[in-house]
Amino acid sequence: MVRYSLPVGMRYATLEERKEFYNEEFSLQEVSRWLQNWKGKIKFAVIMGRHTQIFPKKYAQDALTTIIIDEYENLREVRDQIVDFLPEAVYYDRNVYASDDTRIGQELAFDLDPENITCPIHGTLADKMKRGQGLAFCDVELEMVRKEAVGLYDFLSSLFSSVKAVYSGRGFHLHVLDSKAYQMSEKERLELATQVKSAGFHIDEWVTSGEMRLIRLPYSLNGLVSRIVLPLTKDELESFDAVHDKRCLPRFLSEHLISS
Ligand SMILES: [Zn+2]
Repeated sequence: MVRYSLPVGMRYATLEERKEFYNEEFSLQEVSRWLQNWKGKIKFAVIMGRHTQIFPKKYAQDALTTIIIDEYENLREVRDQIVDFLPEAVYYDRNVYASDDTRIGQELAFDLDPENITCPIHGTLADKMKRGQGLAFCDVELEMVRKEAVGLYDFLSSLFSSVKAVYSGRGFHLHVLDSKAYQMSEKERLELATQVKSAGFHIDEWVTSGEMRLIRLPYSLNGLVSRIVLPLTKDELESFDAVHDKRCLPRFLSEHLISS
């Protein structure tokens, strides 16, 4: 079986690069636009170094765990905490909470990851896991998963009216923003996940059922691959190129690519 190399330019971001990104590039305006219709207070979350083993020394004890950020006055304070933690990943909680912290709904989302794709070169997920490459992926898988995302977008658009696509850095997320979707029960979510899987899509059921309630925050940095998590219109999704599209390249990487 062929050894993996990630698509060109995809690599871990260093602490310095994370710092530069969150201080200089991270767009709170775009984040606030993404979350503009959210009801109630949003919980954010970070993971500093679970996969990359790269984290600030002072936080070594908490580097592998998920840290919830729910004490803040505004998004600038959220960013300040992110700059303190310098995480490999930033998420938000899809649960909608009432003021007494009880759960009153959840954003419906679908996660399509390249490792779930059976690759003509690298084989099935089981093959990849056996080689300890559960998180690796290649150009072929990325392109196959993009095509699946286009298909899933169409599929979901026949059921819902507001579907948003997001490039996650590895694969794609589809978010459903219809108010009826927020109210779906866990049973209904599981049924929909089953329906989507039997239509041939390789989704992560854990995300759709709602058990995994965290999802990557759009416009944050995916520190495993040095890509900006980027919402895409349907048209953009149809021709999206994660290796070259400048909008998902953090400055530290695009400057390097230009100079090399
Ligand atoms: Zn492959």
